[in-house]
Amino acid sequence: MGGANSLQDQYGRTVDYLRLSVTDLCNYRCQYCMGPQGVEKRPHGAMLSVEECVEIGAAAVACGVKKIRLTGGEPLVRRGLLDICRGLRALPGLEELCLTTNGSLLPNLAGPLRKAGVDRLNISLDTLHPDRFAAMTRLGRLEDALSGIQAAEDAGFTNLKLDTVLIGGFNDDEINDFLALTMDHPWEVRFIELMPMGPCAQWEKSCFLPVEHILKNNPALQILSTEGVARRYRLPQAPGTVGLISPVSHDFCGACRRIRVTADGRLKGCLHSREERPLRGLHGEALQSAIRAGIVQKPSRHHLADRPSDTPRTMNQIGG
Ligand code: SAM
Ligand code: SF4
Repeated sequence: MGGANSLQDQYGRTVDYLRLSVTDLCNYRCQYCMGPQGVEKRPHGAMLSVEECVEIGAAAVACGVKKIRLTGGEPLVRRGLLDICRGLRALPGLEELCLTTNGSLLPNLAGPLRKAGVDRLNISLDTLHPDRFAAMTRLGRLEDALSGIQAAEDAGFTNLKLDTVLIGGFNDDEINDFLALTMDHPWEVRFIELMPMGPCAQWEKSCFLPVEHILKNNPALQILSTEGVARRYRLPQAPGTVGLISPVSHDFCGACRRIRVTADGRLKGCLHSREERPLRGLHGEALQSAIRAGIVQKPSRHHLADRPSDTPRTMNQIGG
């Protein structure tokens, strides 16, 4: 990524990746992400419309964005999602349209998403134990997520990434089982450090494990590459790969290329900062100019090593 018209922020980082949240609603209530009651219902007009999502995507592409990831909340519960995908996919200059999902609704939607132009999927999967899965998601069933992964493959999605938030005392005894998946499937299994924000900001220290823990216990992992904020590894002879994402233990902000737009239309230069820039009501040059300003003024870094996230929002409200 990083073509001729991509913009740089004031620290010289090229910004060409937008994570666009299409809803803050979700059919799960993951304990680290949101409270048991779910999301307070907001009036219909409080969230970006399908047209606004596409208009913001188009303006971001005009500002040099090459990759858009749709996220949430759970993007698959969003009405009009396929129209958003089709609208974004039609933008000349957009190189990749991706989506992050909990996978539960993929059995019905994987095929239509593929046809609507989604290039790649990340599917979140924190445990391979049905009882743990039900407890952590409060409303989810492991078998639905596994059916979703199968449906994604059947629909022709390749380069699937499975995202596992590493949580001490919850799934750190499953690391080898997740690594074993890469021996049987061409997937990238990615371990992501739990970030102290929202409900989990108050969790015990022992829940926050550095991904280095995985490297220490698996010396067979061979480094392949460092791509942006992810380090990629492979077990010998494995068709799949392993990704380690360390937002807390490693200062990866220097490699960050992202901006975010929340489901209520506010641009964030950093997941963890309080600063937000309203985009709703802006069109044409005014919209592009707000996005450019948000890119240029992207905060230099987060401060998770010293304190919990500065954002008062929960992850489902921003879009992980
Ligand atoms: N609902 C979709 C899903 O779960 O994939 C998309 C939105 S979710 C907020 C995006 C990702 O953020 C998920 O992989 C989730 O596990 C992760 N996430 C949520 N809260 C987190 C936290 N505090 N630290 C690290 N990852 C988190
Ligand atoms: Fe929903 Fe994703 Fe948050 Fe879980 S992590 S509650 S699936 S938005």
